[in-house]
Amino acid sequence: MSASSPVDLHLHSTASDGMLDPAALVAHVAACGVKLMALTDHDTVAGVAAAADAARAHGIGFVAGVELSAAWRGRTIHVLGLALDPANPTLTLALERQQALRNERAERIAARLDAAGAPGTAALATIRAAGSLPTRTHFARELVAAGAAADVAAAFKRWLGSGRPGNVASEWPELTEATGWILAAGGKAAIAHPMRYALSAGARREMCTEFAAAGGHGVEVSTGGGGVHDREQAISLAVRCRLEGSVGSDFHDPSVPWNPPGRLAKLPDSIRPIWSDFQPA
Ligand code: AMP
Ligand code: MN
Ligand code: MN
Ligand code: MN
Repeated sequence: MSASSPVDLHLHSTASDGMLDPAALVAHVAACGVKLMALTDHDTVAGVAAAADAARAHGIGFVAGVELSAAWRGRTIHVLGLALDPANPTLTLALERQQALRNERAERIAARLDAAGAPGTAALATIRAAGSLPTRTHFARELVAAGAAADVAAAFKRWLGSGRPGNVASEWPELTEATGWILAAGGKAAIAHPMRYALSAGARREMCTEFAAAGGHGVEVSTGGGGVHDREQAISLAVRCRLEGSVGSDFHDPSVPWNPPGRLAKLPDSIRPIWSDFQPA
């Protein structure tokens, strides 16, 4: 069993679907022993400035990040942008477009839930009032609060997951286009949780090869929820596609005990860390 890494480059705050606001997230992450972190909210950098301030106060390394929703061969793929300039104009325009897509999709999710007998429109009103960029996670939590599901996992299973009424597609940008925005903002791009997509091993390699050709840098080798087998597959993906490795818990919620920040396995020596050239703010 290898020791855990003091690096965590995949974390969510209340700017998207995390439960902790940026300052509280950083305090939690620092208390968990993380020495270098990235805030990677879904399609927004709204939490980055507050998180950077908090990281300075706690004396831990911080880089700005984002988790972009993208598409490859019609499937939704998440690509992390790390150590980017959150004020870059190309990125800013792109995020406005992503946010418009999310807001439109949220309306469709609400309508589809209503039609299926769940309180979708009421959920969306509460989500909007709270001010976060809407994700399916927000709908899941509201459906739990309304008694339409026992917990978030059950809400995905019944209402929001694959094949369910609230699993609404969106016109996400192609993976290569999203990667280009990250590069334009001076960041490094990494495929998030590479084993979580329903792709064959061959298709996964093709995706990573195209990603590398488009200037993508890395792949998340150690990620929350992934088992030992997933990690081994991700390592071989990184080696075969000549990608650097990232480490990120995909932490959202401190009440989920099995996925705390900063408890992931270190990268093997054969994989170059994506953060080796980061200059934390
Ligand atoms: P979205 O990007 O709006 O489609 O929402 C995706 C988010 O939903 C992911 O980032 C996860 O945080 C969450 N999610 C997806 N599937 C599940 C699941 N089965 N259980 C809990 N959370 C999930
Ligand atoms: Mn999420
Ligand atoms: Mn993701
Ligand atoms: Mn994530």
